[in-house]
Amino acid sequence: MTVMYDRVALIGLGLIASSMFWAMKRGGIAGEVIGYARSSETRDVAREIGLCDRVCDSAAEACEGADLIVLCVPIGAMDAVSREIAGALKKGAVVTDVGSVKRAVIDVVGPHIPDGVHFVPGHPLAGTEQSGPRSGFAELFDNRWCVLTPEGADADATAKLRKYWEALGSNVDEMDADHHDLVLAVTSHTPHLIAYTMVGVADDLSRVTDTEVVKFSAAGFRDFTRIAASDPTMWRDVFLNNKDATLEILGRFTEELFALQRAIRQGDGEHLHDYFTRTRSIRRGII
Ligand code: NAD
Repeated sequence: MTVMYDRVALIGLGLIASSMFWAMKRGGIAGEVIGYARSSETRDVAREIGLCDRVCDSAAEACEGADLIVLCVPIGAMDAVSREIAGALKKGAVVTDVGSVKRAVIDVVGPHIPDGVHFVPGHPLAGTEQSGPRSGFAELFDNRWCVLTPEGADADATAKLRKYWEALGSNVDEMDADHHDLVLAVTSHTPHLIAYTMVGVADDLSRVTDTEVVKFSAAGFRDFTRIAASDPTMWRDVFLNNKDATLEILGRFTEELFALQRAIRQGDGEHLHDYFTRTRSIRRGII
């Protein structure tokens, strides 16, 4: 139980911020946690369930005197909130974010950070399909990765933020922002898009044939439906802000899909078997 930052401000009070709050409480990591969310309904829920020690009605007010400010809003809102808080940041404070895309966030937040304030971008590779202030839980970050993309940020500020994420339960790595965006396009963004399309196709089929595709869904398809239930605003912003990397991966994905389609049409069992053997060995390598 070591207090790492005397005052932490959470801007946006959804899944990630609420999980961070409960994890901070669990570990005694922050002296005081101040919260802000744009909608008054969210702020009311936060006050009702004791999410944050104090909830403010403006982002700037929440950041006054804060040692660590964590931007936990959808990527499309990062520009507006960083503009709003810029004048309230104290010298020596650290601003970080949890956005799922890094280059676009650096481009919009970076210019608003005043001299003497350190900006260290971050992304916890942890989430669920739930959203909002009631969805968080202290264990969300346990044994998950958090990627920091400091790009020349102050070394002490970065080292302290690394320790903060470790105290929240995560393993921490550092990466170049563009590399992060490409890696996440493969491991998270494109798989989400595929899940959205699979569920869309099943829904179309149900409507056309009146068969109950969703009711009788087996395990694989159920996993797709869970992923496809993720927050539409967050995921819209991910694709709008990681355009080049997701288009690059989607291009490669469709090439592979066409090759498999041809193998099925031509009855090329050898191609299918070789491909599935290769992918099975990848799975066995990660568990
Ligand atoms: P969420 O929808 O649960 O919460 C978002 C919060 O931001 C809500 O409180 C909402 O009211 C608030 N908000 C929206 N627009 C705002 C604005 N203009 N000003 C102030 N507040 C605003 O979302 P979440 O899942 O917690 O995601 C937050 C961030 O974390 C996103 O940038 C997302 O990319 C990133 N992230 C999400 C996941 C995940 O799986 N959900 C995982 C890692 C990172």
